[in-house]
Order: sequence, then C-alpha cells, then structure tokens
Amino acid sequence: MPEPSPSTRRDFLTGRAIRSESMNGQNNPAEEAVSILSVPSRGPTILLRTVAMACDFDVMLNPEGPTVQLEAASESLDLVQHLEQTLSIYRDDAHLAQVNRSAAESPIEIEPDLYTLLDQAEQIRHATDGAFDPTAGALVLLWRRCRRENRIPTTNEIETTLALTGGQHLDFDRSRRTVHFDRFGVQLDLGAIGKGYAVDRAGEHLTTKGVVNWLVHGGRSSVRSQGKHAGNDGWPVGLRNPLLPDRPFATFLLRDAALSTSGTAAQWFRHQGKRFGHILDPRTGWPVETMLSVSVIAPDAALADALSTAFFVLGVEKARRCCDTFPHVSAIFFPPPRRGRVLEPLLHNVPAGCLFVNDIH
Ligand code: AMP
Ligand code: MG
Repeated sequence: MPEPSPSTRRDFLTGRAIRSESMNGQNNPAEEAVSILSVPSRGPTILLRTVAMACDFDVMLNPEGPTVQLEAASESLDLVQHLEQTLSIYRDDAHLAQVNRSAAESPIEIEPDLYTLLDQAEQIRHATDGAFDPTAGALVLLWRRCRRENRIPTTNEIETTLALTGGQHLDFDRSRRTVHFDRFGVQLDLGAIGKGYAVDRAGEHLTTKGVVNWLVHGGRSSVRSQGKHAGNDGWPVGLRNPLLPDRPFATFLLRDAALSTSGTAAQWFRHQGKRFGHILDPRTGWPVETMLSVSVIAPDAALADALSTAFFVLGVEKARRCCDTFPHVSAIFFPPPRRGRVLEPLLHNVPAGCLFVNDIH
C-alpha cells in the first residue's frame, strides 16, 4: 500500500489535514466540523477590563444592549477581583493561601465560593484519573523553586513531594464545610481551574442582571459566551497556533458554552537543552511535554479549564476516552507535528459548524 502523502500547508489551512478518531478512510466528521467559508468575525463591542489573577479579564457586550448592562459588567468584574482575593495562593492574605498555611494543624472552615470550587475540582480529579489534581500545589512550588535556581529537582525531592500530592490527603467535612490536610506540606493550587471559575461567576452575574448577550475572557486561556454577536449565532473566538501564538489558526463560534486552552508556549524553561513546561503530571511529578496545546469546549468555563489541563497531561488517546465520559464536552488537540509533517490538530466530538479555519488569502 502506498504511504499516505504528508499533509501540505494548504491541506492544513483548508481543514483537510484535520483528523479525527472516526476517520477510517470514510466520511470524516471532523472535516464536516470545519469550514473555510465565511469565517464569522467580531463586530463592534463594548469592552470592560480589569486585571486579576495575573491577567486581563474582559467583559464584551453588544453596543445595542440595554444600558443596565454596563453596570452589570462592572459588577461582574468586581466579583472577579473578589474571587482573586479568595483563590490566589500568591497573595498572603488570600483565603486559599491561609488554608494552605493552616489546614494541616486543624480543620479550616472554607468560604462558600472556595468550597464549591474545591468540590468540583475533587470530582474532576476523580474523573480524570488524577491528571488534573488540585493538590499538585507542592509539586508546582518545587518546580518553581528549581526554575529560579536553574536546575531540575532531584529524584528524592520529587518522591518526597509526590507523597504530599493526591486527594487522599484532604479530609472534607461537608456538613461543617471544612477541610483538613493529613500532613504538613500539602498545598492546594487552583491555578488550572480558577480562571475558568471566575469567568463562570462573572458571566452568571451578567445573566442574573438580565444581560442576554455577553462574552467573558479570563486571560488568553478561558472564555465563555452567551447569546449572539454581530449577526452570528454565537460569539467568534480566536484559536491560536501553538507554535506561533500570535497567529490565529482558526475561529471558533462559541454558542452558550466555554472554551479553555492549556499549553506551555508561554510558560516553560530550558535546562541542559531540555524544555520543561508549567503543566505537571501529578502522578509522576514531572512536567508534560508530549502535547503543544489542548482546547476544550464545555458547558462551563471551570470544567473547560480543568479538563484542558487534564487532557494535556493525559495525551490524545486517554483524553479522548476521558472526554467521552463528560456530556457536551469536545476537544481540539495539537500534538507536536511528526518529523517532516505540518501541525495537525485532532478534533474530538467538535460539533459541526463551529470551527472555521481562517482563510489563507
Ligand atoms: P492551565 O494553564 O489551566 O493548564 O493551568 C496550569 C497551572 O495549574 C500551573 O501553572 C500550575 O499552577 C497548576 N497545575 C499544573 N499542572 C497541574 C495539574 N496536572 N493539575 C492541576 N493543576 C496543575
Ligand atoms: Mg486549566
């Protein structure tokens, strides 16, 4: 049998190179999900912005929306600021930082927002076989310290820190809403879900205030939208090329859903010629470098955020199986191109009519 010819740049740009599991040489639903015709574009918007969680949080509104929407948007950004004060581990006075300092000594009562999020995070940890793990905090701190010291951790450091990682170290008392760590050194880190959660709360506030059409962005990685924009049946959002992050590769028409992307293009360091990114496999204690990026589309942004991190860790095949266990969740994987090949995104369950490869002209 002849070798399949390598995809060309044009194949990729026109969506022909996009593959899905269910190809089998027959009808490829992934291709049906991709269109190069009439890429939806953004029209004029009203933009309100705040800086929180070390990134820009944006609320976008249609200019023709009701005047009350400005006040609602401003309130929703205040909410984001409040959440940072709860979820950060880098501000000494933040609630989560206090929990990390004290929960090994005695059970600590947790604010409702943080409790809801920890509960969701624990469920996702289970469902992803520990690939997403809110207790990865000690490992994250170890790798940060080593990055500053321009070294990689010793095997002994990794083993000691792995013994502080995993849900078995958390004791939740649901009736009292408390958490207790079973040993000193356990650290919660909600960096892989917190931005998404803040996007959700901001968006829900807009909806509660009667705003029908909105888009909320948390940094470059998490976005959620509701309603319609500029004649589109949803809000167009850009998907970056993970090898050239300033270049959009495609546009995704987000319809009452959230999209989150995990990748290491922006946060990594090199040691002795090897690259180490900021996403860790909590089961091994090592950074994962087998994927360029993963985008996940889900009903809410916290889930999309946590799953994009988990799928990055799991790799394409395990992530596809995990993805199938969540209703209304789809994924776009960017594995590193094989030698001599172009970048080939792999689509999983992406609904038809949502993904538009940007025109090459
Ligand atoms: P994200 O950019 O959403 O993929 O989240 C990455 C951030 O979450 C990192 O900067 C760490 O703070 C933390 N993190 C890294 N790996 C994991 C993991 N496997 N599970 C949970 N949190 C992680
Ligand atoms: Mg994430």
